[in-house]
Amino acid sequence: MGQSVRQKRTTTPLSFLSDSPIHRFTDSPKFLLAIETSCDETAVAVLSGERRILASLVSSQNQVHSPFGGVVPELACRAHMDVLAPMTRQALDEAGVRVRDLDAIAVTAGPGLIGALLVGVSQAKAMAFALGIPLVAVHHIEAHIAAVLLDHDDEDVFPAVALVVSGGHTHLYDVKGPGRVRPLGRTRDDAAGEAFDKVAALLRLGYPGGPAIDRLAREGDPRAVAFPRPRVEGAPFDFSFSGLKTAVRRHLAGSSPLTPALSPQGRGGSLDAVCSPSLPSGERDTPRFSPLPSHGELSPESSPLPFGERDRVRGIADVAASFQAAVVDVLVDRTIRAARETGVRNVIVAGGVAANSALRKGMEGACASDGLRLFIPPPALCTDNAAMVAVLGARYLAMGRTASLDLNPRDRWGLGE
Ligand code: ADP
Ligand code: MG
Repeated sequence: MGQSVRQKRTTTPLSFLSDSPIHRFTDSPKFLLAIETSCDETAVAVLSGERRILASLVSSQNQVHSPFGGVVPELACRAHMDVLAPMTRQALDEAGVRVRDLDAIAVTAGPGLIGALLVGVSQAKAMAFALGIPLVAVHHIEAHIAAVLLDHDDEDVFPAVALVVSGGHTHLYDVKGPGRVRPLGRTRDDAAGEAFDKVAALLRLGYPGGPAIDRLAREGDPRAVAFPRPRVEGAPFDFSFSGLKTAVRRHLAGSSPLTPALSPQGRGGSLDAVCSPSLPSGERDTPRFSPLPSHGELSPESSPLPFGERDRVRGIADVAASFQAAVVDVLVDRTIRAARETGVRNVIVAGGVAANSALRKGMEGACASDGLRLFIPPPALCTDNAAMVAVLGARYLAMGRTASLDLNPRDRWGLGE
C-alpha cells in the first residue's frame, strides 16, 4: 500500500505577500534591474544610482509580427518567454553585476498586452521574492516620459507638458515630476504610431510602418496631398487619427497612378490581428495597388526602376510625406496649445513616434518660436526599452513606492486619473 501523501495546504492569507519585507529607500539603489515586456519588445536594463545605465538590452519582435501587419498578442507572449531569462543573464553579465548584488527590481506593470505584461511581472516577482529585495511597479507611459531623465536633472525638466506618442498611446500630460502627472488630452481612436503602421500597410511598406514612412517621406513632397488635420470638437487637447487613415485610403483608391488593379494580398497582411483594440474587426485595409518593389531603402531617384515605375514610387513617397506632415502638424499644434494653456516653459516628447525625424524637426521649430525648451530622448530611447523603466523605477523606489508580491499587471491603467 502506497504511502499517502497529504497535500499541504497553506491557510496563510494572501496578505502575507503584501507584508513581505519592503525595504524603504530614500537614496538611489546601488544596482537596480529593470524589465519591460508590455508589447512587442523584450527589454532588460541594469541601473546604478540615479541614472547610470550599466547595460540595456532590447529584443524586438518585428520579424515575428511583420507577416501579420501588427502585433499578435499570443506570439508576443511566447517571444517574451523565450528571451527574457537569457537576456536578464546577459544584461547582468554585461553590467558586471551579480544577481545577489541587486538592490531592487523594477518592472513595467501596465498598461499593455496583459499576457505580455505577465511574463515580465512574473519574473520580476520571482526574483524579488527569491532575493528578498523590493519590487517596483512602473507605469509604461510615465516611463516613456522619464526617458529624458537619463540625460537631465528633474529640476531642469519639470514642470513640463509631455506628449507621449507610440504604437498604443497618444496622450498629452501636465507633468510636475515623477508620480505627479495630470492628463490633458488623448486620442479618441487610433494612436499616432498605429496610424503610421496602418498607413504603411496601405502603402505596402512593411511593419513597423513608422520608420518606413519616415524614410520614404524624405523623398516625397509633404504638400503634394492636402490630407485633413482633424480636430475634436470641444476638446482642444484631444486627437483623432482614424479619419486621416481613411483619407489616405480614399486617396489611394482614387488615384490612378497607384491603382493599377492589383491583388489585395501582400506584405501588409490582414490588420485584424493587431494589438490595437480600436481597429474595428472585419475592417481590412487592403488597397488595390501593387506593392513597392522593395521597402525601406526605396528612392525614386536612386532605384533602377523603369520610367513609369519611378513616377509611381514618387507618388507613394508624396503620399507618405503628406500623411506624415498632417500627423506632425496635429501633434505639434496640440502640444504648443497645451504649453500655452498651462504656462509651462518645457515640452517633453517621448514614445516610439518621437523617433520620427519630421516630428522632431517640427517640434523643435515650434518650441523655438514660442520660447519653449524641448526635451526629446535620443531615437533609441524613444521606442520601448528598459533604461526608461529603470530610471523611473529608481525614482519610485526613493519615494517609497514599492509594490507587494501580489502585484498584478494591468492592461488598462490611466496615468494620473
Ligand atoms: P509600443 O509601446 O506601442 O510598442 P513604442 O514606443 O515601441 O510603442 O513605439 C512603437 C511605434 O512607434 C510603432 O507604431 C512604430 O511604427 C512607431 N515608430 C517608430 N519609429 C518611428 C518613426 N521614425 N516615425 C514614426 N513612427 C515611428
Ligand atoms: Mg513596441
